Amino acid sequence: MRILVIEDEPRILEFLRLGLEAEGFAVDAADDGAAGLRLALAEPYELVVLDLQLPRLDGFRLLEELRRSRPDLPVLILSARSDLPTKLRSFGLGANDYLSKPFSFDELVARVRVHVRKGHDTGEPSSLRVGPLELDLARRRAHADGSAIDLSDREFRLLYHLASHAGEVLSRERLLSDVWGYSFDPGSNVVDVCVRRLRKKLGPTWPIETVRHAGYRLAVA
Ligand code: CA
Repeated sequence: MRILVIEDEPRILEFLRLGLEAEGFAVDAADDGAAGLRLALAEPYELVVLDLQLPRLDGFRLLEELRRSRPDLPVLILSARSDLPTKLRSFGLGANDYLSKPFSFDELVARVRVHVRKGHDTGEPSSLRVGPLELDLARRRAHADGSAIDLSDREFRLLYHLASHAGEVLSRERLLSDVWGYSFDPGSNVVDVCVRRLRKKLGPTWPIETVRHAGYRLAVA
């Protein structure tokens, strides 16, 4: 069960990370809003714990952006602000829950469990399907035309990212940033190499197209 914590106060971030890991969750962390949004869009998380006052992109704007492409991802706001207008605005933007700081860790975990369980109970697809491809997000497995494909973690993440933006051209720079977490081009061709490996593993029906001078696109069937 993967959780993303977006929080700029280092002590709270570390406390949440260690505490949630001790409760059996796999935790990724971001300490500014822009990095948090990028991760939330790139990875198949089951829940996001979101602070509101964040550098680079505040929690409200992050939530607004996130909801455009991830309407169902549970978001629990964890904020020092406890006034009603802030809470109502958060819910209005699509937050699923709200907890004010200082908070009880036990209560946070209890709420996280409720939301994660809900996601499992509704029988919502935990998979992403594009043409012949099916990606099982929870198990990180990929199938093409029903047969399993053995992918490395990075290959899965690249494929997931292309699939969740199927039909769109994604530049190498964007893929480097979203899948590898680079904010610069390291001057290597890691993206091209990874795409080549993916195509090889998927065989001739592979729908990743190279768009000259632009990037890559997963063709929509
Ligand atoms: Ca903050």
